[in-house]
This record gives sequence, structure tokens and C-alpha cells, in this order.
Amino acid sequence: MELLETLKKRALETLEKVADASGLAQWEIEIFGRKQGELTRLLRSLRDLPEAERRKIGAGANKLREKLEEELNKKRAFIKKQTTKRELLKEKVDITFPGTRHKRGHLHPLTQIRLTSEHIFTSLGFAIVEGPEIETEFYNFDALNMAGHSARDMQETFWLDKSIPGKNRYVPRTQVTGIQVRFMERHNPPFRIVYSGTCFRREATDASHEFQFDQLECLMVDKDITVANLKYILHAFFEKLFGKGVEIRLRPSYFPFTEPSFEVDITCIGCSGRGCSICKQSGWVELLGAGMVNQKVFKAAGYVPRQWQGFAFGMGLDRIAMMKYKIPDIRLFRQNDIRFLQQF
Ligand SMILES: [Zn+2]
Repeated sequence: MELLETLKKRALETLEKVADASGLAQWEIEIFGRKQGELTRLLRSLRDLPEAERRKIGAGANKLREKLEEELNKKRAFIKKQTTKRELLKEKVDITFPGTRHKRGHLHPLTQIRLTSEHIFTSLGFAIVEGPEIETEFYNFDALNMAGHSARDMQETFWLDKSIPGKNRYVPRTQVTGIQVRFMERHNPPFRIVYSGTCFRREATDASHEFQFDQLECLMVDKDITVANLKYILHAFFEKLFGKGVEIRLRPSYFPFTEPSFEVDITCIGCSGRGCSICKQSGWVELLGAGMVNQKVFKAAGYVPRQWQGFAFGMGLDRIAMMKYKIPDIRLFRQNDIRFLQQF
């Protein structure tokens, strides 16, 4: 019984001094170790005692084991708590330390011009509609009074190998104008719509020509639309885009899908009309094509000819962006040079 007391005292004293998990493991082996543990050895020595004594001391030894196990568990919980606390303290965040700034991208200049233009047109009562980038020969040419070879020769065209059997070839659209017919097939006038997107032509590239470019077109149809409406909307658009003082002028031209047709010039933004190298000293820059919708286009869309009148105009967004941001080469837009794009 005395040995039990001594063991208890010594064991609790050493446990008291244990400060960490490895010390605790060491203590556990010293006391409870299967071969050399002090308590294990003591329990084993009971076997040599007479039965009456063995029972008495055995009960005391079991009580001691329970006590030591209880203390061991308490100590283990305590050490775990201490360790967690230390780790949390280590993880402390200095909230006064400056943060890492994330690099944010921005919209491509052509996208910016498109969104700005769409915003102006919606404020003038136009709705935004869409059409496919891969068109059929019908929507891209035939329905727009461009059935003959001579009409199509105005545009160098890529063709896809695939075609609708016995009917139509597919073409990466050379203009967004096909959307006119697609929309009119499903809607009756009056309406005013604006639509845009990428077009493709088999062009040799130089500073002002690309084989891929963005176009934006407007179409307004009602009972009595005239060239006066066309001029008003054009002027309102360019004044909102380039600022007050911008003038427009129409010159006679030819497009298969409008009759009559016009080239539209605007006051040179480079010199405000005084004359410079951009406008070849004329003060005017040719910027887009326009006209009154050809009745043949209405017919192709299923309208009764002569019932409706409308105007349409289309412009290259690349050209508009070049004018607005004073960019000298159209090819810069699609070279993906970050040094160029970062300037917008
Ligand atoms: Zn000029």
C-alpha cells in the first residue's frame, strides 16, 4: 500500500511538470508502458502475493490506475487547448497591412464604341436585335437584291465548304444587313432596330482594310419615313458620339439594298472641319453608307411592296473607333497587343 502511495505521488508530480504533447507521451510510457511502465510492473508483482493481500492491494492499484488515467486525460485536453491557442496567436492578421491590389481588365475599344453607340440608339427609341455570324447565301446576298454576280463582286467573300443540300451555301457574313430580312420575316412595322457584329471579307489588309471588322446598322420602317428622318437620326447620333458642332452631308451613291443610296460624310474630328491630312484638307470624312430601303428587300422579307417605307444605314465600328480615338491603323484592334489596348 505504501508503494502505491509513493507511485501515485511521484507520478502526479512528474505529470504536473509535463509541458507539451511529447512530454506527455513520454510520461504515459513511463507509467502505463506494457513492459517497463511503473504501474504495469507493480500490477504484475501482485501475482506473487497471497490471495487475501492480493485482493486488497489489487483494489487499491485499480483505483490508482483510474486516478492516473483521469489525470492523464485532463492533462491531454489542457495541452491541446494550449497548442490551439498558440497556433491561433501565430495566425494573427495585421489589419493595418496594405492589401494586394487585383489587376482588373477593361473592355476592348471596339466593344466600348459598340456599347456607347447602342446606348445612343436605344435612347432614340431603337431596339437591339441580333443575327448569326454564319449566314446563308440567301440572307447575305439574294434577299438584299444582290443575286447577280455583278452585285456580289462589290464584296470579296469567304465561303464555307458546308452547304444546305441543293439550296444555299454558307458564308461568314460580309455585312450585318442580312439581319434586316431575318427580323422583317418575323415582325411587322412600325419598328426601329439596331444590330451589330463581326463581318468577314477576303480583303488584302492595310492600314485602313481588315478581313475582319465590326459593323453596326440601323433600320427604321413605318408608313411615311423619308430621307429627312434619316438625316435627323444620323445627325443626332454623331452629335451624341462626337459632340456638338458635328455636321453631316449626304452624297449620291449606289447600294443594291437601298434606293436612293447615299455616302454619308461627317465633319473631320481631327481638324473640326478646317482641313488636315486625315481629311485631305477637305474638312469632311466619309464614314458610312445609307439609303431608303429598296422595295425589293421588303418583298424578299414578305411585305406587300409600296406599303412601307424605311431607311437603313450601316457603319464600320472600327472606322468610328479610329476616328474617335485617333487611331491610325485598323489592324491594331485585333493584334492583341496589351500595350495598345491598355490606352483605352
Ligand atoms: Zn481634317
